[in-house]
Amino acid sequence: MTTSVIAGKYVLGMRDGEQAVLQDHYVYIDGPKIEAVTRDAPAAGQAVIRYEHGLVMPGFVNLHAHCLRGGLFRGIPDDLEMDPWVPTPVYRILLPLTGIAAQKLTRDELHAVTALGMIDLVKGGTTTLLDMWHHGQEMFFDVAKEVGLRTVGAPFIMSASNSRLGADSNPVWDFGNDGMAQLARSIALFKARDEGRDGLAQVAIGPHATDTCLPELLRECRKTADDLGCLLTTHFAQTPQELALLQARYGMSASGYARDTGLLGKNVILAHAGCATDPDLKVLAETGTHVVNCAFGFAREGQNFPYARFANAGVNTGIGTDSHGMDLLGELRVTGLLSKQYFHKAHTGTARELMRAATLAGADALGRPDLGRVQPGAKADLLVFDLFKPHLQPVWDPLKNLVWKGHAGDIALVMVHGETVMRDGKFLKMDEGAVMRKAAGAAKKIWDIGVERGILPAGC
Ligand SMILES: [Zn+2]
Repeated sequence: MTTSVIAGKYVLGMRDGEQAVLQDHYVYIDGPKIEAVTRDAPAAGQAVIRYEHGLVMPGFVNLHAHCLRGGLFRGIPDDLEMDPWVPTPVYRILLPLTGIAAQKLTRDELHAVTALGMIDLVKGGTTTLLDMWHHGQEMFFDVAKEVGLRTVGAPFIMSASNSRLGADSNPVWDFGNDGMAQLARSIALFKARDEGRDGLAQVAIGPHATDTCLPELLRECRKTADDLGCLLTTHFAQTPQELALLQARYGMSASGYARDTGLLGKNVILAHAGCATDPDLKVLAETGTHVVNCAFGFAREGQNFPYARFANAGVNTGIGTDSHGMDLLGELRVTGLLSKQYFHKAHTGTARELMRAATLAGADALGRPDLGRVQPGAKADLLVFDLFKPHLQPVWDPLKNLVWKGHAGDIALVMVHGETVMRDGKFLKMDEGAVMRKAAGAAKKIWDIGVERGILPAGC
């Protein structure tokens, strides 16, 4: 039974298995699912949510974020001095602040900071989020329910402890963590909280990275993911130091180590992979391993991990915002520009490719043919962009207008699982102002301690 109908000037629907811009179509919704995408107008009396200049499209699938950090670190790591590939601010500022937050935030404050990150994501167009966080922050799923966001939660599992910068400015750590105990917690979490495809919450196995997890832990993670039938996601090939360490410790390339420890395959999503060599990418493509490109975050540090390099190698490549900002259109624009710069070609990193990466490719990486598409049977996870704006009119190509000229403020409506969670700029599920005030208070508390301990400068 039709529960709602959305109409727009354009619908980014499907034709012959690929995305296509359809004109003057109606999207019929039945509960959590799309019932039909058609030119046939509804019967008299059926209410229609109509945006005369609207583009109806699938919600964005954000394949890699740490939403808790978005608010907590807002404005802190940007523009800081660092040598190439030496993430000094991470070790000197962000990790110490993360430690303080883990000790000092009350449950209410953690709730507010998490909610802020998720509201930011929803208002930036994310309807499905794959997020990595620390065990102890399981309220992630409760907050996501309140916010109305579809999530896959992947708590970190790692062998490394006491991470710091060594004398040569390379990261060093001890292997003092009981990764197997963390894996056991993830298994328990999967059994308690995973709702499968018909719910809003899923659990994935999330070993932290190739260098911070010992090989036997990675192999056990892979075995567990296969046994549970769930995803495995990890950070991969982020720096030359990581590759050098794998070579020195195990005598293996990044993809060789991934093959040896079970980090390849259709149920694996590798975050970043920016330092993977061309032969590494060939292995990822051949094994159906997915990559998530978070180009903006690395561009901020002076590095270019161009989306098109992975996509051109035949790797299914999705998009993530990581921790710096949650506006997917902003992420897509930077992603496209970096690809054009890298290849010196204007026709790479196109609006169509990027929209596909942030919807269809992301859904495919999650093994979810019911997401990332506006077609009958898919979940009703939808965005409507209002194109009747001076910076978006007139419209020759709605996708080009949006990716190259649009921003999160152009999103008129966000629907997840058939429920409207934002309409005409207003977030409907929580008191956004109260969340912002509480989260800002929580962040200030952590920043004040950071200043006291000399981690942050006094004021900006
Ligand atoms: Zn990450």
